Amino acid sequence: MGQGTKRLDDEYEVTDVLGRGGFSVVRRGIRKSSGGKIQVAIKTLRRIGPWQPSPGGRGRSVTAPNSRQALVSDALLTNELLVMRKIVEDVSPHPNVIHLYDVCEDSNGVHLILELCSGGELFDRIVAQERYSEAGAAAVVRQIAEGLNSLHKAKIIHRDLKPENCLFLDKDENSPLKIMDFGLSSVEDFTDSVVGLFGSIDYVSPEALSQDKITPKSDIWSLGVILYILLSGYPPFIAQSTRQKQQMIMQGYFSFHEKTWKSISSSAKQLISSLLTVDPQLRPTAAQVLQHPWVTGDLAKEEQMDAEIVSRLQSFNARRKFRAAAMASVLSTSFSLRTKKLKNLVGSYDLKPEELENLRIHFKRICTNGENATLSQFEE
Ligand code: ATP
Repeated sequence: MGQGTKRLDDEYEVTDVLGRGGFSVVRRGIRKSSGGKIQVAIKTLRRIGPWQPSPGGRGRSVTAPNSRQALVSDALLTNELLVMRKIVEDVSPHPNVIHLYDVCEDSNGVHLILELCSGGELFDRIVAQERYSEAGAAAVVRQIAEGLNSLHKAKIIHRDLKPENCLFLDKDENSPLKIMDFGLSSVEDFTDSVVGLFGSIDYVSPEALSQDKITPKSDIWSLGVILYILLSGYPPFIAQSTRQKQQMIMQGYFSFHEKTWKSISSSAKQLISSLLTVDPQLRPTAAQVLQHPWVTGDLAKEEQMDAEIVSRLQSFNARRKFRAAAMASVLSTSFSLRTKKLKNLVGSYDLKPEELENLRIHFKRICTNGENATLSQFEE
């Protein structure tokens, strides 16, 4: 992997936009030296505030003076680089963890040159499938647990595991599923965790909500939430307000509603209950999840899942995508547009209360001094 001094334009031809996140834009790139054969994903993390390229290797490179916002974004950016470098050293190549090829830096920010995943997001693929069974869901859990197992062995905690951070490598039916987006991840006992939540708290563990120690078991909780949704089409913790939802999560208060869950095997439900155990010590490790008879495929049903579950998953996925796109668009635009878009979004009934709160926190972080006035209008 390069040391971050290469210029993007020298090495890659940058083409279409593949996706946008809260702090990044991801574009397709073609490696010039490959004669057009090697395609990559280029994740550009834009630094807010004055920029100086950082040297390669770990460590913080805070260069923007006296600007709280710049410091925050610098921490986020440095964190993702640090974790990706640790992955390259201690995890890659792994079929279920995204691979970082290179890093380029310039005045636009840091460009992470990543393995290109062209197979789509986890839920998109599932809802597009003609056949979907417990065995199919078990194969997904197996792949995520394999990826987590290797990350956890390297002492990396993902901390933001959710379906949109799981992408298929290609369109092939047997394509591997890759865990990605290590922006909020941490290396156990080493990095300060970057505090930040973007989007819904649906996948966040009780210990993360109560600001207790985060361990690899926090990722296992998120896997439990993903599995619950995979088998029902809706999340385990649903409430009218963020506070209510936080309480439900912290108490591990969820149930298997008879109407939906009667057709799901008891082994799957037993697994979900163990993953969604409030005490992290009682949750299985990723290695133990891999040994579970439902995950190995021995007890997962092969029959086609209820059509209702699939159609619920479809609408859950559509709503989630709409909200994510709206939020990413607010955060990625220029100051004036951002404020305008934010106001429109706040008026939208599609935004969940906790997403609104998180958006407010993020908006505060990325505000420049000139925006403070607008922020107070927004806060009214
Ligand atoms: P978030 O706001 O969710 O933290 P982010 O800024 O960290 O997002 P990512 O989630 O890493 O950004 O990427 C944003 C989008 O770009 C993803 O949802 C995905 O659609 C696309 N993307 C990211 N990495 C790749 C890749 N390696 N191959 C193809 N598409 C990718």
